[in-house]
Order: sequence, then structure tokens, then C-alpha cells
Amino acid sequence: MSLYVILMGIQGAGKGLQAKRIEEHFGIPQVSTGDLFRAMRTRTDDLARKVQQIMAAGQLVDDDTTNAIVVDRLAQADAARGVILDGYPRNQVQAAFLEAHLAEKGARVNSVLLLELDLFTAFKRAFGRVSAADGGSYNYYYNADGVDFKWTQDPAGQFPPRLEATVAGGGESLKRRPDDASADAIIKRIDTYLETTQPLISYFEARDIVRRINADQSIDSVWTDIKRALEYR
Ligand code: AMP
Repeated sequence: MSLYVILMGIQGAGKGLQAKRIEEHFGIPQVSTGDLFRAMRTRTDDLARKVQQIMAAGQLVDDDTTNAIVVDRLAQADAARGVILDGYPRNQVQAAFLEAHLAEKGARVNSVLLLELDLFTAFKRAFGRVSAADGGSYNYYYNADGVDFKWTQDPAGQFPPRLEATVAGGGESLKRRPDDASADAIIKRIDTYLETTQPLISYFEARDIVRRINADQSIDSVWTDIKRALEYR
């Protein structure tokens, strides 16, 4: 029996962490189209260059290219028993293509896991997040013990104050992901997610395969709910 799972959820919902657990528990690999496109960075052919330009402009790669890269990935040996799809499908054309492709293999999308998180929490998880060189992760709103956070005013008063973080007592300065440091950019990502995914949710709801998971719980509790949703589908 194969298992094809689509993982959907707003940034900050914990998709990456949960995908790792699904991978380990069910023995199927995570396939992220964003990762596949980023991996093309080292290539210099025309297609790879075109994809890099599109990504740098924050646009979506065209459906034909995206579908082709997914077909290629699904044909690899480690994907023979299914995959966890992350970042794909992103629209209804891709969703219909995927369904047709799986039907040809005698398979289908078994489950769409929707990790639900309210928008303000999603914003705070991204905006408040800082990390240390050793991979340690802290958050201004949720996990600030041992970290000094400071708002630094722009001397020219042109830009909003910047959030800076250091390990308490004058230690290491902690890093924010560049795409998390701007409130505008985070809101834009949230808007894009809402615009593109809402129609997809209705699309899959018509097939009765959407499972809603409350992502505003501990990592372990979210995992318990996911496991249950996949085991009793
Ligand atoms: P992600 O890591 O999923 O946010 O993807 C990063 C970038 O890769 C996106 O901004 C798009 O340019 C491209 N991309 C990833 N997945 C898709 C997709 N399913 N359709 C079109 N473009 C995609």
C-alpha cells in the first residue's frame, strides 16, 4: 500500500518538523518543491537559471516545469511507496495534474493534512524567531529566557525599529532569517498563502480527504493528532 500525503499549513505551523516525524514513522520521504528548486542553484543550464530568476522575484514557477520536476522525483526509488508533499500542489492545475499522475500509477492522494494556526500566532512565530550558531532557537514572544531582546531605532527615523537579540549578559548575537526580519514580507507571505490555498482546500474537501490539525499545541501533541489522522484514514 502506498501513502501520498499533502502537508498544508501557513508558515510557522510546524510543517518541517512534522514532515520529519512522518518520514521516520511511515518510511516515506518528504518532497518539497521549494527544496527541489533551490537545489537547482548549482546548475547552470537554461531551465535552472530561469527557475532561480523566478524564485528571486518571489513569483511562482510555471505549472509545466513544476509538474515535470515532481513527476521526476516521484519516479525515484525511495518514493516508490509514497511521499509527503510540501509546497505542492500550489494551485488547482497542479492538483488536477497530480491526481491524474497518481491515478496512472494506480495510486491516489490519501490525505491532505491541514495544520491550522491563527494568523497572529503565525506572524509572531516568524517575526519573533532568532537562532544561535549551534542551531538553538528562541522566540521574542514565546521562549525568551536567556536572551536579551532590544528594539533599535533607525537613526534617520526612516525605517521601523529593528529587533535585535543577544545571549543574555553580552553573549553571542542571535540571527534572524532575512525573510522573517521584515513584518511586511511576513504579511505578504501570509496573504499569498491565504489566496492560493483556500481554493485548494475546497478542492480537496470535495474528495473528503482533508484532515484539520490544530497546530497551536506542543510539537508532540500535533504529532499525536497527525499519526491518528493518518492511521485512521
Ligand atoms: P517554498 O520553499 O515552498 O516557499 O518555495 C520557494 C519558491 O519555489 C516559491 O516562491 C516558488 O518560486 C517556487 N515554488 C515552490 N513550489 C512551487 C509550486 N508548487 N509551484 C510553483 N512554484 C513553486
